[in-house]
Amino acid sequence: MAKDDESHFNHLTSQTAIAGIRTFSRLPTLVSDENGDVDLAVLGIPFDSLVTFRPGARLGPNAIRQASGLCRNYSQQMEVDVFDRLRAFDAGDLAVNPFDFNEAFRQIGDGIRFLHRRGASVVVLGGDHSILLPILRATSEKYPGLTLVQFDAHSDTSDESASGQRFHHGTSVRRAIDEGVVEGSRVFQIGIRGFIESAEYNDFSRQAGIRVLGMQGVHNDRERAVFLETIREVAGDGPCYLTFDVDGIDPAFAPGTGTPVVGGLTSFEAIDIMRSLRGLRFIGGDVVEVAPAYDHSEITALLGAALALEIGALISIARQ
Ligand code: MN
Ligand code: MN
Repeated sequence: MAKDDESHFNHLTSQTAIAGIRTFSRLPTLVSDENGDVDLAVLGIPFDSLVTFRPGARLGPNAIRQASGLCRNYSQQMEVDVFDRLRAFDAGDLAVNPFDFNEAFRQIGDGIRFLHRRGASVVVLGGDHSILLPILRATSEKYPGLTLVQFDAHSDTSDESASGQRFHHGTSVRRAIDEGVVEGSRVFQIGIRGFIESAEYNDFSRQAGIRVLGMQGVHNDRERAVFLETIREVAGDGPCYLTFDVDGIDPAFAPGTGTPVVGGLTSFEAIDIMRSLRGLRFIGGDVVEVAPAYDHSEITALLGAALALEIGALISIARQ
């Protein structure tokens, strides 16, 4: 094909909101053997083999990418162009083993470490929340002393399932603290609510020193302000990681997820809290538990794309 012809065809098939090969927010794809530093990488982890209720989050990355076609890069609220000053790429999806979570966890760690070696902050599209553990293991090697900000309906501090499974999407925070990957006193959870097995269920969280902003607290201006101020005091200028389990949002705004809990955050409340965390040194984050089979009109996928972009904005500000 003649050169002119080729460039004309490339132009005809360029990335727009509805055309081109779908990458997150129309980002270029990361070719792993290409040289050069990377500032920000969006990485899909289509793994959902460790859920306790409804599966389907393995299809989350694709759904979020599909919904991200209309994402625009300038945040009017945070006054930052997310990708303008960053060499940002869509790194595609990790080919994780759905039948062997130990191997999947190794693959996840290898993928995160590879991107860290390239210099990238990583925004992960999940996947169920069990992937948080291998992500944090790898991330804490490069960034010890992490502060973890978690949006979630669930504390994810269970010890094990009824069948004795110690690694699933409801145990990842507990395992991370047990393994010393993150200190309990550096864990901040927002949106925790609903019925649990018993009052003792929260003993681990209390003893570990996890701080929780429940739904009453979200709606109490003073409690919310104190909580957010405490995050800043504890984090200081140290590295911060934001994990966003989409079930932290009320199912009216995020029906497409495996373990929905009513009475949660609105999309605005969550995004407003995220924006108030600007200036903290965010070095990575994830949006997990988007399960498109239970979604309607791409409500949850669209939210997932917006949340990933907000995390990108926080990272972009931190890297300025
Ligand atoms: Mn959850
Ligand atoms: Mn969770």
